[in-house]
Amino acid sequence: MTLPPYLQHARARDAADPLAAFRDAFVIDDPDTIYMDGNSLGRLPKRTIARLNEAVQNEWGKRLVRGWGEGWMDAPARIGGKIAGLVGAQGDEVLVADSTSVNFYKLVHAALDLRPARRQIVTETVNFPTDAYILQGIAQARNKKITYIDTSDGITIPTDAIVDAIAADDCALVTLTHTAFKSGAVHDMRAITDAAHNAGALVLWDLSHSVGSIPIHLNDCNADLAVGCTYKYLNGGPGAPAFLYVRRDLQAQLRNPIQGWFGQRDQFAMGFDYAPAPGMTRFNVGTPPMLSMLAVETGVDLVLEAGIERLREKSVAQTEFLITLWEEYLAPFGVTLNSPSDPNQRGSHISLGHPDALRIDRALIEEMNVIPDFRYPDNIRFGVAPLYTRFVDVYYAMERMHRVLSERLHEKYSIERPTVT
Ligand SMILES: *Cc1c(COP(=O)(O)O)cnc(C)c1O
Repeated sequence: MTLPPYLQHARARDAADPLAAFRDAFVIDDPDTIYMDGNSLGRLPKRTIARLNEAVQNEWGKRLVRGWGEGWMDAPARIGGKIAGLVGAQGDEVLVADSTSVNFYKLVHAALDLRPARRQIVTETVNFPTDAYILQGIAQARNKKITYIDTSDGITIPTDAIVDAIAADDCALVTLTHTAFKSGAVHDMRAITDAAHNAGALVLWDLSHSVGSIPIHLNDCNADLAVGCTYKYLNGGPGAPAFLYVRRDLQAQLRNPIQGWFGQRDQFAMGFDYAPAPGMTRFNVGTPPMLSMLAVETGVDLVLEAGIERLREKSVAQTEFLITLWEEYLAPFGVTLNSPSDPNQRGSHISLGHPDALRIDRALIEEMNVIPDFRYPDNIRFGVAPLYTRFVDVYYAMERMHRVLSERLHEKYSIERPTVT
């Protein structure tokens, strides 16, 4: 088969796409740029520009400090309440605050405090680096032991292996990234949460690569704790504050290890001794970054308007299409599928492997106007962000990668890794 039938197919899918209009809600600077990295930094929503203009000119510019009493103070809980609708939680179980890394640090400490006699923390070797680094620091400081479950195929971690490790009787905490950042493999939240609870352990999920792209059922799975990122599929902007979830019945039992004044009961009484605020407020630390915070809200609103079920349906169709094109055009060049082939077991990005992946990634960016990203050692990640990714984008990403390989365009690039990939 030649390329055009797939292009026709892509155009027909776009024409029939009920979410197609959402693309117009985003700034598309260069229509020829095929942006496949929405899983790393989501695009800029047009209404975020208007919202930030309003926030800067009228709220900061004119209301000045009165802004705190007129909507700013409530923003972390208000926007958290909206995110709750995307992760299957109650409105008062999610708060927007700090970075994912800092929230992870806070909740790991808090969880370990609830199981003081236990030493074991269970995680896996393909977890996101920041999670691993923070666990290593905390384990050292608190004399805990981390058990890393290894991947069998470089793509997935068998649920059975995790469940077996959890059954060890001094497991305090299980923490996993729901959708793996490299392969896109998705863990079975229900089975793992059940196993943790059967063993008397707590579970902390990192939802950074899931939220906004795949339905999540925290309450339904009885999950204890979660953190996640807002600048990927939620389009909150670079470095936008993250969120954390604590199941309602655990909130009063948990201690925030960073006892800042925004987590203090009756904060403006300015009392000298720390007393944690009720509910999620205790998981605040310091003054929230209000401009970035307000940008999160417009991003989340768009995802809510599109509906997570419809987004997921489109994402699955697009990653399936990408895999069809990979099989046809790239597999013959030795490109491997480094993501699960079953759509039920993966999130919204596909990793393709090749020994020359770094150089192919460079050629795609510099000559083909395709922006995926590279993840060590040999993965090129193609993120599908169903709010604005079109089927033709998926087509051109694969067609241009085929051109790079067939014309060997990547071979002139250095094998040196740049500072940022
Ligand atoms: C992107 C991502 C993060 C980001 O953490 P920051 O503190 O915002 O830098 C954390 N965990 C996972 C799994 C991620 O994908």
